[in-house]
Amino acid sequence: MAGVQTAAALREQGFTGTVTLIGAEPHQPYDRPPLSKAILLGTAEHSAFDIDFEALGIDLRLGCEALALRPEAHVLDTSAGPVPYDVLVLATGAEPVRLPGAEGVPGVHLLRTLDDAERLRPVLARQHDVVVVGAGWIGAEFATAAREAGCAVTVVEAADRPLAGALPAEVAAPMAAWYADAGAGLRTRARVERVEPGAVVLGDGTRLPAGAVVVGIGARPATAWLAGSGVELGAHGEVVADDRLRTGVPDVYAVGDCASFPSARYGTRLMVHHWDNALQGPRTVAADIVTGAAPAYDPVPYFWSEQFGRFVQYAGHHPAADTTVWRGDPSGPAWTVCWLRENRLAGLLAVGRPRDLAQGRRLIEAGTPMDPELLADAARPLKSATA
Ligand SMILES: Cc1cc2nc3c(=O)[nH]c(=O)nc-3n(C[C@H](O)[C@H](O)[C@H](O)COP(=O)(O)OP(=O)(O)OC[C@H]3O[C@@H](n4cnc5c(N)ncnc54)[C@H](O)[C@@H]3O)c2cc1C
Repeated sequence: MAGVQTAAALREQGFTGTVTLIGAEPHQPYDRPPLSKAILLGTAEHSAFDIDFEALGIDLRLGCEALALRPEAHVLDTSAGPVPYDVLVLATGAEPVRLPGAEGVPGVHLLRTLDDAERLRPVLARQHDVVVVGAGWIGAEFATAAREAGCAVTVVEAADRPLAGALPAEVAAPMAAWYADAGAGLRTRARVERVEPGAVVLGDGTRLPAGAVVVGIGARPATAWLAGSGVELGAHGEVVADDRLRTGVPDVYAVGDCASFPSARYGTRLMVHHWDNALQGPRTVAADIVTGAAPAYDPVPYFWSEQFGRFVQYAGHHPAADTTVWRGDPSGPAWTVCWLRENRLAGLLAVGRPRDLAQGRRLIEAGTPMDPELLADAARPLKSATA
């Protein structure tokens, strides 16, 4: 996504030099969000980007893996030989974290690539009993699709609630009921002891029959190949970029899931593993390459998830907030939670309330002071709850 968007943005912004787009996968570049939704259920065949690379003069090299970077020589070593560059943009994304001991066990799946989704389609079609390891975004979306397909689904989560790494307890707790409503089992505080062919064994000895196991326990930047290159990697393996998405190595940028950048808006470094960041970041990279002086990249992060019949949207960054305001009842079908910092919106999560999301996103962007009491009135448009 970020590589394709960078190449397209370079052309949009008038770049006339050679653009080479290198990717390890053999498929035409494609969009990932449909993989855990329409592609899995077979209601869409593919999600390839509708971009005519040839017409844009983009040299697309598929099935080609970047193996090492030699910055002094301005050369990228690939499985198809060395590729010289003037400017290099790293957009290698992330790869799923694997479950120790589960690798190579028949019937164990990940969900990151088109190949993964295609391997999972027959699992759904045959209505296998499925155990999902991890109640995160991917686990919830897969469980949704598998239930829709008629599979028996049990989701196993080590934490005490779904989305423990992403949302505060009081917000994630009501989501546990969504699993039950959809007829999916959710076992929290459950550690996987081992995976055997046909079963997942938990720490307490429980044996869950599993025609298939889907592991969704997070993703890590796909940057191992950069070790020793001089490109700085952060604590999570992400490329450490500046506010123009430049790395510390001359003429090398990093964008999308593989990178982190400093956010002046939130006073912290952000690593965002969501689609919108892989759309917006490339515009900054392209502008900086073309003009040499792009404005700082400081987005209001945004993402969505479709799970258990609900449209969940998030904007901003809540950890630094000092006040939480609810709009609506979290046990109902539609509600929003707003996070304020010094009475300004820092972030919000909207379930089935896309207007709240759209208005809130603009208010975060503008830093408008809010009135928490007005904000708590779910019948009032969010944009009219300003102080
Ligand atoms: C199943 C699924 C569902 C999702 N749904 C949503 C959603 O609903 N909403 C949302 O906001 N986000 C969603 N996302 C997240 C979103 O798709 C990602 O944030 C986005 O794809 C990131 O783009 P990227 O270009 O950084 O990485 P990627 O899209 O992962 O692209 C990186 C590419 O680099 C290639 N690569 C890696 N290493 C090398 C190498 N050494 N040499 C050559 N090529 C290499 C990879 O093969 C890959 O094709 C979803 C992700 C997945 C997996």
